[in-house]
Amino acid sequence: MKNIAVIGAGAMGNGIAHTFAQSGYKVQLVDINQEVLSRALQTISKNLDRLIAKGKIEESTKTKTLSNISTFTDISEGVEYASLVIEAATENINLKLKIFQELDAACPEDTILATNTSSISITQISAVTSRPKQVVGMHFMNPVPIMPLVEIIAGYNTSKEVLNFTENLTKEIGKIPVIVNDYPGFIANRILMPMINEAIEALNSGVAGVHEIDSIMKLGMAHPMGPLELADFIGLDVCLSILEVMYDGFKKLKYAPNPLLINMVQAGKFGIKTGEGFYNYDNNRKATVVASQFS
Ligand code: NAD
Repeated sequence: MKNIAVIGAGAMGNGIAHTFAQSGYKVQLVDINQEVLSRALQTISKNLDRLIAKGKIEESTKTKTLSNISTFTDISEGVEYASLVIEAATENINLKLKIFQELDAACPEDTILATNTSSISITQISAVTSRPKQVVGMHFMNPVPIMPLVEIIAGYNTSKEVLNFTENLTKEIGKIPVIVNDYPGFIANRILMPMINEAIEALNSGVAGVHEIDSIMKLGMAHPMGPLELADFIGLDVCLSILEVMYDGFKKLKYAPNPLLINMVQAGKFGIKTGEGFYNYDNNRKATVVASQFS
């Protein structure tokens, strides 16, 4: 098993491709958008340069890593020889169901199908395939080359063999697996998203400003990023999708996304990826608070 495919070359897909390619895997990176694929390769190259500058890898590792990645815009071409596919496309249930139907039709029958979804049911995704035992959640953290955790999600039908395989593979690429069961938001986002949503609620009801909320959580709780800064980093669109899945799945008001978050996503303010969220971002990604709205 040295041949994997990654579907979606956005923030997560490029990090997953980088991590596997640096560990010696041949990676077929697939996205519907050729520009995204070119940008992904540039990002991976820049991130490898950073590792060289820090003395963590040699120039030859960069060359090898980049040569391990090939890009495709056609999903069936990209997955032809893959023993494992990791789907990291946009967090949208209908899109994921469609992609898994396509993967099931295009992949060899022993290929394992993993999804990097942040919240969507692995069991529901597996049900549109003819191989539900071979469908598993592999929830990488952002930024993938740096964060050690992979939350592994056992769907209702995921086999023990596939779970063991996924656990061992995670260790092989230098990450730490933690296995959980399949409920909306799993563990990471079930705990993280209510905190982010509550920070937005506090902001929206005028308890404190962006800077104050983030400072309190950084200085007082030793969080490396404040919740609003973190929401911008994850993507407000992604945060909203996750909260909607949890609200739908549990039918509990405590997971209802705050109206300010909904407004910002509808206004196209997704955080770092669009240049504005709770903060403004210049080219160096230095953040300043969006003064007009929140101060
Ligand atoms: P993103 O918006 O940066 O990238 C998604 C990519 O999917 C885009 O490049 C888009 O062109 C591509 N795509 C859409 N439809 C496709 C298709 N049919 N075939 C191939 N590619 C397609 O999103 P992201 O932040 O990288 O998130 C991807 C997944 O990872 C989501 O499920 C998300 O919930 C999950 N995730 C995100 C984070 C985070 O911090 N952003 C963390 C963990 C998990």
